[in-house]
Amino acid sequence: MAGGGPSSEDKAESGRARQVEAEDAARGGDLLIDVCCGPCALTMDMVVRLDRQGCCLLFYNPNIHPFTEYRKRLETFLAYAGSQGFGHRVLPYEPEEWIRAVAFHEEERCRACYRLRLSRAVLYAREWGFAAVSTTLFASPYQDHALLASLGGSLAAEAGLDFLVWDGRAAYRDALREARARGMYIQAWCGCLLSERERYDRSHRCGKSAGGSS
Ligand code: SF4
Repeated sequence: MAGGGPSSEDKAESGRARQVEAEDAARGGDLLIDVCCGPCALTMDMVVRLDRQGCCLLFYNPNIHPFTEYRKRLETFLAYAGSQGFGHRVLPYEPEEWIRAVAFHEEERCRACYRLRLSRAVLYAREWGFAAVSTTLFASPYQDHALLASLGGSLAAEAGLDFLVWDGRAAYRDALREARARGMYIQAWCGCLLSERERYDRSHRCGKSAGGSS
């Protein structure tokens, strides 16, 4: 994972944020889930057992490069969400937004990337009247869970929303096996061009995101 841990400000904000238990969120209520890819959505469903009536999946991934890769992940997401009966939304592809967010902050790019995606999810949730937000990024052992919880909790609390923190790391390998069995596309790098380079060039590996699938 590129970038440092959460700042004391982030931790304080996170402490103030209301975080709902997975069990409560799964029972109902309007939960908007930021989805990074189909396999991680599957992982979240295996762990949290999502209520189809009470949640909606949101696909906003300006961090996925190049466009052909974005399209593969989008198609996998749409097939999964449709086959599982999930309500879902897709926001426009905006790689320019990701480039602007991380430019000159490459060493902390994951923080900027998380912030961009979670901010958009929180904004969407507030506009459309959802009560809580979460993200499938919690599925992956390659992502920074503490930072995600801190940022997500902070952004959601500022908007008066709950933020669901969950942990899919123990189920991740089984979920990937299940995704393969279902014929789902499984990516080999996190998303951005920098993470794609890290996949092949060890000299540029800078943390847990190197080589991670999402
Ligand atoms: S490695 Fe993943 S989380 Fe980090 S900036 Fe790239 S796409 Fe975003």
